[in-house]
Amino acid sequence: MKVVMLGTGYVGLVTGTCFADSGNDVTCVDINQQKIDMLNRGEVPIYEPGLAEMVRRNAASGRLQFTTDLRGPVAEADCVFVAVGTPQGDDGSADLSYVFGAAEAIAPHLREDAIVVVKSTVPVGTNRAVFGRLKELTGRDVHVASNPEFLKEGCAIDDFTKPDRVVVGVMDKKVGEVLAQLYAPFLRTEQPFLVMGLESAEMTKYVANCMLATKISFINEMANLCDRVGADINEVRRGIGHDQRIGFSFLFPGVGYGGSCFPKDVRAMISVADTRGMDAEILKAVDEVNNRQKHVLFAKLDEHFGGDLKGKKIAVWGLSFKPRTDDIREAPSLVLIEQLLAGGADIHVHDPVAVENVKAQLGDKLTYHEHHYDALEGVDALAIVTEWNEYRNPDFEYVKHKMGTPVIFDGRNLYDPEKMGAAGFTYSGIGLKSPG
Ligand code: NAD
Repeated sequence: MKVVMLGTGYVGLVTGTCFADSGNDVTCVDINQQKIDMLNRGEVPIYEPGLAEMVRRNAASGRLQFTTDLRGPVAEADCVFVAVGTPQGDDGSADLSYVFGAAEAIAPHLREDAIVVVKSTVPVGTNRAVFGRLKELTGRDVHVASNPEFLKEGCAIDDFTKPDRVVVGVMDKKVGEVLAQLYAPFLRTEQPFLVMGLESAEMTKYVANCMLATKISFINEMANLCDRVGADINEVRRGIGHDQRIGFSFLFPGVGYGGSCFPKDVRAMISVADTRGMDAEILKAVDEVNNRQKHVLFAKLDEHFGGDLKGKKIAVWGLSFKPRTDDIREAPSLVLIEQLLAGGADIHVHDPVAVENVKAQLGDKLTYHEHHYDALEGVDALAIVTEWNEYRNPDFEYVKHKMGTPVIFDGRNLYDPEKMGAAGFTYSGIGLKSPG
């Protein structure tokens, strides 16, 4: 099939590359000339494990191309995917200007039988509005399908090529059949291809993200309570998780969710409810609890230093909003760092891949280190924000030797408090019982 992918971000580039890898002829289009130039030089503008090799291999085979000029590729395409950003607008609702901008750009060039597939996360009603706009612009009924994406940054290729399910919203069953063909190589293990109405598909994506965000805020609230009552959230987690109605997944306490999806999608859903005269009380609480959770590590540090962080040397391990990505959008690390800076701390940071993105925002306000151990030189405390694998099992003797004072505030509960106590650390996690 001939496929055009609009947007070469985390979703568009992964999706386009995976479609090319399964034998389709894919052109990725972006309005950002710099990104397209990089891709044409064989460089990948984002960090996603395995992606660079896959991009280069498919580009070399001629199945994957990159351009800013969509006219020719769109005129030939069977399917035109829209995978552009839908960031949060000023009022919390999703900013759909890129989606409609893309629809307007492709309209004059679409083949009569082309299918426009909206992969961006868009609030309910958007696909039908895109259909309406395309009708205004072309004078005909253009096939529009909703195909929300569930991949996770950090394991995007695996998620895309081995999805739990594929969801497609259509107005016409035949469109579903064409998309089923496109997805068939990824569904060989009998995972479901679910065809539904446009509105249900749009809602499915938001409901999934809101459910996951709710689980995180719920367990964070319970962990904070454990902190206050002398219980241990890990013991509680085990106690509840064996109940099959509850389970273990996505119930790890931490410093709050970040990234380009959960925060904005929860707020967009609140906004959708508002416009329908409904108060989304649970989601408002989820958002509020999450915002508060991003301050928990700072509160612990501040308390430890008696409210005086001026001149304190603090190491921060992990800057990206989660491991295996360089994405720092709404990252909890930024909230912590902002507070530490305001308190006058001397901040030493490490992250395996996100340093450049943080440098672009914060420049020389921080000291950046190539190796996570180097960030510990003489520090008064270490705060762990992102659970990168290399932080999971450090040489604790060496860590203690490097640090000025062996104090660790762990926002991801990576270590065993008892062992840490025995090794001579002052150690505090999220909802973990302190030793002794
Ligand atoms: P991104 O910001 O990384 O990339 C979007 C890209 O679209 C940018 O490169 C931008 O230049 C380009 N763009 C904007 N307008 C364009 C146009 N008219 N033509 C061509 N390109 C254009 O975004 P992302 O993280 O890939 O997310 C894209 C969508 O997918 C969003 O709606 C997001 O909510 C959703 N989503 C994201 C993830 C994720 O993990 N990042 C997961 C599932 C769904």
